[in-house]
Amino acid sequence: MKLRIPFDRINWVNSSFLIGTAVVTCTAVPLYLWHYGVDLFQVAMFFLFFIASGLSITLGYHRLFSHMAFQATWPVRLSTLIFGATAFENSALAWVSDHRRHHKHVDHDDDPYDISKGFFHAHIGWILFKLNPVPPWDNVNDLRKDPLVMWQERFYVPIAVGFGFVLPTLLGYWHGGAIGALGGFLIAGVARVTAVQHMTFFINSLCHTVGSQPYSNKCSARDSWLMAIFTFGEGYHNYHHEFQHDYRNGVKWWQWDPTKWTIWTLEKLRLVRGLRRVSDDKILLAQLTDTRRRLGEQIACPKISANARLHALLQASDAKLHELGQRWEALKAEYAGKASALRSEYSDRAQAQFEEARHALEEMRREVRQATRLLKHAAAAA
Ligand SMILES: [Zn+2]
Ligand SMILES: [Zn+2]
Repeated sequence: MKLRIPFDRINWVNSSFLIGTAVVTCTAVPLYLWHYGVDLFQVAMFFLFFIASGLSITLGYHRLFSHMAFQATWPVRLSTLIFGATAFENSALAWVSDHRRHHKHVDHDDDPYDISKGFFHAHIGWILFKLNPVPPWDNVNDLRKDPLVMWQERFYVPIAVGFGFVLPTLLGYWHGGAIGALGGFLIAGVARVTAVQHMTFFINSLCHTVGSQPYSNKCSARDSWLMAIFTFGEGYHNYHHEFQHDYRNGVKWWQWDPTKWTIWTLEKLRLVRGLRRVSDDKILLAQLTDTRRRLGEQIACPKISANARLHALLQASDAKLHELGQRWEALKAEYAGKASALRSEYSDRAQAQFEEARHALEEMRREVRQATRLLKHAAAAA
C-alpha cells in the first residue's frame, strides 16, 4: 500500500510543534538525564506541571467550559485557563468548539476526531492536517460572554509559552543555575507537554476503540479503567458520552476519577457550585436497557441457541430485566403528580426497587458468565 501525504493540507505550525516536542522528548531529555541525572526538585516540578496542565484540561476545558457540568468562581476559571494553555492544545474557545462538535456528530464526518476515519486520524492526524473547510466557531457563543475566556483567547501564545516553558526554566535556574534551567525546560516543559498531549489524544483514539460499553452502544465511546488512571478519570468515556453534563466520568464511588474528586473538594471550599449529577435510577435504567440489548444479541446467536440450557437462562434473565424495567415505570407513574407529602414514601419504595434491580443485574451477570464458561468448556471437550 502506498502512503499518500496530503502536503497541501499540512498544518505546519501544529505539525512542527508536535513533532519537535516529541523528538526533543525522545532525544535531548534522555541525553540530559544521562549527563546530569535528575534531582527531586526536577521530578516534583514535572509532576506539578503535569497535574496542573492535565487537570486544567479535564476539569477546566472539558467538564467546565465544554459541558457546563458545574459553575466556577473566577479563581478556578482563571487558573484552569492559564494552566490549560500550558498543555498547548489550543485556546479554550477553539478546544471547546471542537469538543462540542465531537459530541454532536460523534463517529460522523463533522466530528473533528471521527474514529471511523481511523485510529491515527482520531489520535493526532486531525491536528496535523487542516480541516477543509475550517468549521465556524458558532457553538461557543456562551463562552464569548466570559471576559476571562476572551482574555485567554487574545493572549493564548504568550500565556502558554510563559507559564508552560519560561516558568519551569526560571524555577529550574533558581534551583540549579544554568543546568537546572535546561532541566526545567526539558523535563517540566517539553517532556511534560508531550505526556499531557498524548494523554488527551488517547481519549479520542483508544477510548473510542477499546473498552466496555455498559451504558450504551449508540456511539463508539468506551469505558476503560486503565485509561482512567492516566487521564485523571476521563477513561470512563462510554458513561461520559451517554451523560455528558454529569460532573463525574467515573460515576461509581470506587472508580478512579481524580477530576471528580477535585471538583467535589472545590465545592466544599465554595470555589465551585451547581454540580450536575444524573440520578441513580436514570443510570441504572440505562444499564438495564443496555444489558437487555446484549442479552438479545446473545439469544439470537446460533451457537448459544443450540445450547438449550444457556438459551433458557438468557431468556429468563431477559424476562426478569424486562419485568424490573416495567415495575420501575409503573412506580414512577403511580407517584407522578402526587402531593409532595408522598415524596418520602416514593423515595423509600424507589430505593428498594433500585436495590432489587441492582442486585438482579449483578446476579444475572454472574449466572451468564458461569453458563458461558461451561459452554466453552463443553465446546473444548467435544
Ligand atoms: Zn469521545
Ligand atoms: Zn466531553
